[in-house]
Parts: sequence; C-alpha cells; structure tokens
Amino acid sequence: MIIAIDGPAASGKGTLGRLLAAHYGYRHLDTGVIYRAVAHALISAGHDLNDEAAAVSAARGLDPQKFGDPALKSHPVGTAASVVSAIPAVRAALLEFQRDFAAAPPGAVLDGRDIGTVICPDAEVKIFVVADPRVRARRRTLEARSRGEAADEAAVLADILARDERDQNRAVAPLKPAADAYLLDNSNLDIEAGVRAAIDIVEAVRAGRSRG
Ligand code: C5P
Repeated sequence: MIIAIDGPAASGKGTLGRLLAAHYGYRHLDTGVIYRAVAHALISAGHDLNDEAAAVSAARGLDPQKFGDPALKSHPVGTAASVVSAIPAVRAALLEFQRDFAAAPPGAVLDGRDIGTVICPDAEVKIFVVADPRVRARRRTLEARSRGEAADEAAVLADILARDERDQNRAVAPLKPAADAYLLDNSNLDIEAGVRAAIDIVEAVRAGRSRG
C-alpha cells in the first residue's frame, strides 16, 4: 500500500508520515528533504538558486545517504528549497527516485506537496494535512529554537505564508489536495491525536467504507 501525505510547510505531515510508516511497518520518505538537499548543494557550491543547469545536476547527483544531514533542517534551506522546487526540470529529475521508493515493498508513506496529485496519483490512501498558519509558525519557531537557532515567530510566520504562496501558485505540481484526498486539520491535535486520526483514515479506506 502507498500512503500519500501532502500539506503546507510545518503542518506536521512529516511527523505524521514517520509515525504512520512505523505503525504499518512501511518505509517513509520525507520528500521535502530531497528538495532541501538540492537547495543545500547549490548554496554550498555558491550557485544561484535559479541556476537551472546546476540545480538539475544537483538533483541527478543526490546521495540519499546524506538526507539525514542536520543542515538540511534549517529554515533558510527550507525557503531555498521552495525556490528550487519551482523549477520544472528539477521536479522532473526527482520524479523517478520518488516513484521507485513508493513502489518498493512492503509499502510506503511519502509526504510532500504533490504526492497524491503527481508522484503517486494511484496511492490507495491520500491525506491532505492542514493547520492554522499561526500554529505552524509557533511549531517551527520552537523546533528551530530547540536546535539552537535564533527564530523570531513573526518572521517565521511571514516566511511560511510566503512559502505557501509560492508552493500553491507555481506552474508545475502546485500544492493542492488531490480530488480524492482526505483532509486532516492538525491545528488543534497533538502528535498522538494526529496519528490516531490518520490511522482512522487508513483503516476506513482498508475497510472499504465510503469516503468522507
Ligand atoms: O516540507 P519541507 O518544508 O521540507 O519542504 C521544503 C520545500 O520543498 C517546500 O516549501 C516545497 O517548495 C518543496 N517541496 C515540493 N514538493 C514536495 C516536497 C517539498 O515542492 N513534494
């Protein structure tokens, strides 16, 4: 089974994806990491984020062993990733990697922006996670501070809103729910309740109940 989780920045989809995968014994891919890795490679090499040739070359040369690099987590790298990810050739270069990951047994959970719409349109379960931008900004600020980064909540909120705008309005694979996605509002749920809600959705699909 493939479970596709999409949603905006800091909606909690990554944590949900990881815990849902653990629950079902599936593999998990946080696809944001891929775009972050491309952005990080460009920044490290001193390239402009809009340098298409350099970005495609970085995308083709991705090393999954480095996806755990803590540098990828930083807020500036996330913002840079949203610039790089709007380049259609970069998205095309990353498509196969994601589809191969999804197809391998025993099953997979992928989270991102276009998993249910573009990468895995046939995923058995699609969940679109939403959360109030202020809640998302608060979470991201606390996360950044826990890593020792200075973070101003108002600036993080402005950045999240700008990122939503860019992700929703780009020409290729914009952030939007698939027509058959279940909406999960994560604004007022703690991690456990969010995971429970996601498992309920998966189980409802598995039981073949009618879609909500
Ligand atoms: O989810 P995360 O904050 O790590 O994503 C960083 C950026 O990568 C997003 O703002 C988005 O522009 C891009 N992204 C994407 N498609 C995905 C995952 C992430 O365009 N499937």
